[in-house]
Amino acid sequence: MSETSAVSPEAPETNPLLIAWQTPHRTPPFAEITPEHFMPAFERAFVDHAAEIAAITHDPSVPDFDNTITALERSGKLLTKVSSVFYDLVSAHSNPAILAIDTDLSLRMARHWNPIMMNAVLFGRIAMLHEKRKELDLTGEQMRLLERTYTRFHRAGAGLSEEAKARMAEINERLAHLGTSFSHHLLADEQEWFLELGEDDRAGLSDTFITSAKAAAEERGLAGKAILTLSRSFVEPFLKTSERRDLREKVFKAFTARGDNGNANDNNAVIVEILALREEAAKLLGFPTYAGYRLEDTMAKTPEAVRGLLERVWKPARARALADRDELQALIAKEGGNFPLAPWDWRYYAEKLRQAKANFDDSAIKPYLVLDHMIEAAFDCATRLFGITFAERKDIPVWHPDVRVWEVRDRDGRHQALFYGDYFARSSKRSGAWMSSLRDQQKLDGDVAPLILNICNFSKGADGQPSLLSPDDARTLFHEFGHALHGMLSNVVYPSLAGTSVFTDFVELPSQLYEHWQERPEVLQRFARHYQTGEPLPEDLLKRFLAARKFNQGFATVEFISSALIDLEFHSQPASASRNVRAFEQAELKKIGMPEEIAMRHRPQQFGHIFSGDYYAAGYYSYMWSEVMDADAFGAFEEAGDIFDPATAKRLHDNIYSTGGSVDPEAAYVAFRGREPEPDALLRRRGLSDSAEAA
Ligand SMILES: [Zn+2]
Repeated sequence: MSETSAVSPEAPETNPLLIAWQTPHRTPPFAEITPEHFMPAFERAFVDHAAEIAAITHDPSVPDFDNTITALERSGKLLTKVSSVFYDLVSAHSNPAILAIDTDLSLRMARHWNPIMMNAVLFGRIAMLHEKRKELDLTGEQMRLLERTYTRFHRAGAGLSEEAKARMAEINERLAHLGTSFSHHLLADEQEWFLELGEDDRAGLSDTFITSAKAAAEERGLAGKAILTLSRSFVEPFLKTSERRDLREKVFKAFTARGDNGNANDNNAVIVEILALREEAAKLLGFPTYAGYRLEDTMAKTPEAVRGLLERVWKPARARALADRDELQALIAKEGGNFPLAPWDWRYYAEKLRQAKANFDDSAIKPYLVLDHMIEAAFDCATRLFGITFAERKDIPVWHPDVRVWEVRDRDGRHQALFYGDYFARSSKRSGAWMSSLRDQQKLDGDVAPLILNICNFSKGADGQPSLLSPDDARTLFHEFGHALHGMLSNVVYPSLAGTSVFTDFVELPSQLYEHWQERPEVLQRFARHYQTGEPLPEDLLKRFLAARKFNQGFATVEFISSALIDLEFHSQPASASRNVRAFEQAELKKIGMPEEIAMRHRPQQFGHIFSGDYYAAGYYSYMWSEVMDADAFGAFEEAGDIFDPATAKRLHDNIYSTGGSVDPEAAYVAFRGREPEPDALLRRRGLSDSAEAA
């Protein structure tokens, strides 16, 4: 489609995506944007961007940093603007019209980017600058930008033969389509399923759970009923507390069968094709496997380094899980049960055991974990650490009435960012929790303040009750807020280096590190207050809660590492080995000695991290790689004797939270900590080290 057929040049512009936004802080005017605005806006954005790229490519002057690298940073503004609004809606508030556009767009997007990323003339300019980079008198950030730009084009195949590039383009187009199908299938399977909880089906479930189940029913137009959906925030507490073994089995099976039901939403064939195409692409680029290709551009560097870390943690975690299993089986026997522990029993009996041992259960603490107070706690820690302050704004347009917005100001009261929080589950939102942005920070042409989002799937309180979080939810809230800080505190010149534009195995450091503050007594004592009485969390309950944190870590670690290992195997074995996804999954789990009573955190057919797109492909291990650093990093505050120690916080801000991708991550870590991370901190934190075992 040509430019003129997409948008009439004479008509005054009425598409809100194509005019300057007159909203406060120039935020997207969500109320004015409807699905039919997107395709014409994308068409215009593609044309504009292609013209900008052509101008850089064919610039008659000798290539220099400014006319090539900086010009690339300036290009594609409209595309970035339209995309960020669109993809926010796709994940956080979609509808059939948006999803249909998403399906078409994935191909259009690939067709737009392929000729840019594989443009030989443009790459020639970049390569020439890269070659003589030492003579260019660049700042540290500029040098990093040049290296990253060169690497990005090189790894996309810009240096390949024309024939190889043509095939690469086809592969990218097909992969874009397959990734979209994968997530649409998953969403459809999640939307279709629910379990109505009649009066007889509620044994063991807490009042707050039932309240949330009623809110979920109302959201699906079933007011007056109570339903369970396949959101993790529902499934996990249900498996933990429901006394109905038959229902636990039903829910567990539905949850782990998402994308694997043999219906129109089945993801098995999608996975097979994705893996074959990724392998072919890696080979075109000169790598034996996709994992080899993918990991070259990370902190870990090689599949061997990843396997080394995972196996080191796997052994003690598995041993702990097996010991725990025997204890759970003994508990079943003690209660007169005559059945082997099944995967849908683990959480239930682990919770019972925890209550017996630590005299503690999650539902005892939930009334103290009020969503609004936990948001306040996350803000307060950021104020103490980094001096930023938060004030709610009611005048910023949002995509759903539940979304809240805060203005973030720096120490000196200057505007720093807007923070959008979208906390509640609804059927228009995909599952999980994530951070993203509507605009990234940069200073290339004047200060641009970021618009940062946190999206979660917490259950809403019904009947005017506040939303109460489980301990896991509270941790997720801090985790995503840690990512948000990475985006909001970003202080770089060039947009492609802003905030979370770092290696995948570094990106979880700011988020996981932030979780540490959530579980500190100093923080909980102040912000964990009973939703009805306002009483602070009793000292004794707090102690038991903190002690219980290390409970069941064998299970949690096994759940995670099995997923990380299968991701690595999918991408480091020949694709032909996984033509039968289920058989491959079974064989790999057997090989590592996966306890039968534990399921992977993500089975392949629902493993959106690695199949919805390629961000975490051969990269799910990243959480643990980052954990090696976060477990070690928090030690800096403990050693300083103050979890808000100003000098340590300043080093953290200056080297980690504000630098984005402008510095080498290893150097950034060492500059903060004064040394390399010490890996045993991770085992200690999870209670899996020998010394912890003795304790
Ligand atoms: Zn994260």
